[in-house]
Amino acid sequence: MDKHCFMVEKPCPVCMKTTRVIKTRSRLVVEKTDEDFCVHYKEFNPYYYKIWVCEHCGFAADEKTFLTKLPERTRKTIWDFLAQKKLDIEFTEERTLPDAIASFQLAISYLDLIHAPLSKKASMHLQLAWIYRESGDKELEEEYMHKAADFYDQSLSSERYPIGPLTDTAAMYVVGAIYYRLGDYEKCAQHLSRIIGDQAVRTREPQIFDKARDLWADVREEKKKTDAAAKKS
Ligand SMILES: [Zn+2]
Repeated sequence: MDKHCFMVEKPCPVCMKTTRVIKTRSRLVVEKTDEDFCVHYKEFNPYYYKIWVCEHCGFAADEKTFLTKLPERTRKTIWDFLAQKKLDIEFTEERTLPDAIASFQLAISYLDLIHAPLSKKASMHLQLAWIYRESGDKELEEEYMHKAADFYDQSLSSERYPIGPLTDTAAMYVVGAIYYRLGDYEKCAQHLSRIIGDQAVRTREPQIFDKARDLWADVREEKKKTDAAAKKS
């Protein structure tokens, strides 16, 4: 097992059997953080282990969802769904890139069944995008970033914030940052302007305000560059 990991046993919220899952140690050395809060750690990628998968029935979710009791009807829906699928899950102590991707794909496939909020769908798609980012698969990274941005936008117009530690301003910033990385400076500016145009945010959430203002300055630089290039051609 990787030295950054350890194993625990937890009951599965769907089949109720005890399953082995891998947790990561919290003391990791941060190398850098991207605009959209993707954190790069030294020698290790904890996103690989974000999803817990039951080794018996194949239910997959993040730790918080896995440890939350599901309503009986939801549990039954997933149980029936799993009975048809006949997943063959093999427990591995060390996850490879394909293992990590598969665990996220599985977890994403259950999100509708467990009536997960849009913000949760958004963050799952974004984290999978980060896995593709690290592996250098730009096409899939961008596909999942687009999906994450759409889910966050839908969430912002229909869900009540804060959701856990996430405020609506922070979610707005993340969408702006996603569009920045996608090179869609118009959409990025639309989202950032709603943050820096709001003086109340400045006092209430100075950290997010400053991040938005810094990114705004970068967007203006990038726009200047593209405008200049467009004039030349
Ligand atoms: Zn299970």
